[in-house]
Amino acid sequence: MTRRYGFDTLQIHAGARPDPATGARQVPIYQTTAYVFRDADHAAALFNLQEVGYIYSRLTNPTVSALAERIATLEGGAGGVCCSSGHAAQIMALFPLMGPGRNVVVSTRLYGGTVTQFSHTIRRFGWSAKFVDFDDLGALEAAVDDDTRAIFCESIANPGGYITDLPAVAKLADRLGLPLIVDNTSATPYLCRPIEHGATLVVHSTTKYLTGNGTVTGGAIVDSGKFDWSASGKFPSLSDPEPAYHGLKFHETFGALAFTFHSIAVGLRDLGMTMNPQAAHYTLLGIETLSLRMQRHVANAVKVAEWLEKDPRIARVTYAGLKSSPYHERVATVCPKGAGALFTFALKGGYEACVKLVNALELFSHVANLGDTRSLVIHSASTTHRQLTEEQQRAAGADPDVVRVSIGLEDPDDIIADLDQALTKASA
Ligand code: PLP
Repeated sequence: MTRRYGFDTLQIHAGARPDPATGARQVPIYQTTAYVFRDADHAAALFNLQEVGYIYSRLTNPTVSALAERIATLEGGAGGVCCSSGHAAQIMALFPLMGPGRNVVVSTRLYGGTVTQFSHTIRRFGWSAKFVDFDDLGALEAAVDDDTRAIFCESIANPGGYITDLPAVAKLADRLGLPLIVDNTSATPYLCRPIEHGATLVVHSTTKYLTGNGTVTGGAIVDSGKFDWSASGKFPSLSDPEPAYHGLKFHETFGALAFTFHSIAVGLRDLGMTMNPQAAHYTLLGIETLSLRMQRHVANAVKVAEWLEKDPRIARVTYAGLKSSPYHERVATVCPKGAGALFTFALKGGYEACVKLVNALELFSHVANLGDTRSLVIHSASTTHRQLTEEQQRAAGADPDVVRVSIGLEDPDDIIADLDQALTKASA
């Protein structure tokens, strides 16, 4: 059958086939570390990357592979790799591109943990990040130098309800000959498809909406398969002979799947940031209902944000789904099915009122997570964005007087009622 399936079909079927051994319809949890080789020649061919198959679950596992294929399909990419967390995915995405002395130009509007990872931790590898306001394309271009190897941003940024102008940033990256990496965690491929806007790689914290119910941590990287890794000579890991594979050149050998094969054969092999099959199973189950959940997340978020915006106790609401948002127009091009369900709002009572609000909420859970079926709240400045300077917090949209909410799938009137009673206590 040549029919191209729609998103709702692919989220259930992509990457999954009845188990060849048993006919099991759901993807089994292949709880195994190793796989028996047919014979010595088979083992040698697998180790030489001359044949694709399973060797050892640090590299590949059938349950995890099914998930990687499903996410890659939903993102419209050529291939995908799963790993142990969203943060692992970010390191794994940069790993084949960077080297000592190289830098990545990144948006100031990022999840706080990513700001910390990029400001401090990657320096231990000799890499660095330059933080730029991605609304200023001139500044973005000026930040790029001969040592820049990638441009990195989030589609819908956590926490501020900021939407990156992906088509414009991708066009610039293309002109500069650099891969654009987009963290699509807050949007999911249902709301935003970065590759269609020109992104090279898409990364995810599958911990969030893809799994959808706060059960497991995981990450994924999807490669568009469209970047020419050999053109500039800047990406030797992908274009030049790999000593650990007898001089194999990944780009020349695997073409559009070069990044994916490198991430498995070198990245997972040596960094070992592997996703476990149990986690992959939970995330496969979660993705089956992704579109339905995202529709309801967005509908609830719009209702809650509109209610908050009219409330006299609220100073401002940053949700891009609101007509008043400076990023509202971008929603139509970047994430046409909605602006997600993650946003912040500022309380007129400032920092103190935020802390009181978080303590007074009853239905909302006060946790460092997002993308759950449950509504979640956090005061970013004192938690997820705590390691940042106040200037970095403001640039990221985590001002001290705002709380971040991840609107869940409950009855929206119950969510609003909980906010109402907590705001009364916070404003007292
Ligand atoms: N990217 C975004 C947008 C996030 O919100 C998070 C975590 O909150 C991460 C990446 C990191 O993901 P993980 O916690 O799975 O490592």
